[in-house]
Amino acid sequence: MAGAKGRVSTASDGGTGGATRGGAGRSGVGTAEAFGAEGAAGTGRGTVAPPGLPPDNGVVVQAATASSNAIGAAPRAHLKPKVRAIEKGNIVMTRGEPSPVLARTLYVVATPIGNLRDITLRALDVLGEADIIAAEDTRITATLTSHYGIKGRLAALHAHNERQRADEVIAWLAGGKRVALVTDAGTPAISDPGATLVRAVIDAGFAVVPIPGPSAVIAALSASGLAAAQWLFCGFLPATASARARQIDRLRNFGCALVFYEAPHRIAATLDALAASLGPERQLVIARELTKRFETIHRIALGDAAAWLAADPDRNRGEFVLIVEPAAPSPPVEIESHDALLSALLAELPLAQAVRIAVAATAVAKNRIYERALALKKAS
Ligand code: SAM
Repeated sequence: MAGAKGRVSTASDGGTGGATRGGAGRSGVGTAEAFGAEGAAGTGRGTVAPPGLPPDNGVVVQAATASSNAIGAAPRAHLKPKVRAIEKGNIVMTRGEPSPVLARTLYVVATPIGNLRDITLRALDVLGEADIIAAEDTRITATLTSHYGIKGRLAALHAHNERQRADEVIAWLAGGKRVALVTDAGTPAISDPGATLVRAVIDAGFAVVPIPGPSAVIAALSASGLAAAQWLFCGFLPATASARARQIDRLRNFGCALVFYEAPHRIAATLDALAASLGPERQLVIARELTKRFETIHRIALGDAAAWLAADPDRNRGEFVLIVEPAAPSPPVEIESHDALLSALLAELPLAQAVRIAVAATAVAKNRIYERALALKKAS
């Protein structure tokens, strides 16, 4: 990742640090429907694995389990899993006893995005037990681990050595090690290194287990107040003005909320570009310095955002998530607006062929075009 590194703030300072990195963001779509479908699959229950077992993400579970019996689990009698669960409808939650951290397994661990207290108990279990913690910037992760008295071995894994490190991680896993992957802040592989390593580890036949936790995109959405059933995670916009404008233009008519990451040195230019392309009316949520001392969540029309930012130099500082409300649904097109095209086609071609071409040219439903073509033919 290019640019200055941020730092993780401690609970005591309330969080003042901020990563100020730009870079190519990975994108993804999150839909309420998609999550629902996932949860409903399989047994109809939630997909919580039995304590001590990773979820089934391939052929690797057996290997990981067998290996953990030999290497990982034996000396940790206090971590013996108890089969106790809280059940409500389709949701099953394990009670939260520490589960063994398994050998030959890569754990993808989310870490705080500002406030050191935003770390899960499972994340602490895994970081405490891992033989190696692969970290984007070992100095930043050392702040976290020393805060929690964790003495794990840290190895640098960042955007520039991820491919090469992946081979080493696979060798460590093959040797029975437990490996945790973290980035400077938030969830690995979300606009951060991690995806290449995860893919390589899966391809090599080892287990990959997510340890969910903070991510700026989810924190911002959860407090945005936007009732968007669907949202598109767009990551970082391109750095150059022309590529940025082109990218935003492509997103203009999407009927879902648009979520961007942005760094302080580009926030003003990005707000201008969003307003120019998406129009001044659409509502924007600016989520700045989440979980830190100067946390700000501001809702404003896109056309007023640049002036808001300029009104106080401190508003340019820190890390940003921008959420733009979905485009209003476009009004239905009057079928008569296609009469000129249809009449011209009907004058030259048989009805069926004219309809086929008009449907392809207008993207209007075939039955509507067909009915209109019949009416025009009758009237001529
Ligand atoms: N992997 C991280 C995650 O899960 O959110 C994102 C890493 S990305 C390199 C860093 C960007 O995430 C920042 O430039 C900013 O856009 C966003 N971000 C991270 N922490 C944030 C925070 N505390 N408040 C607002 N945005 C934040």
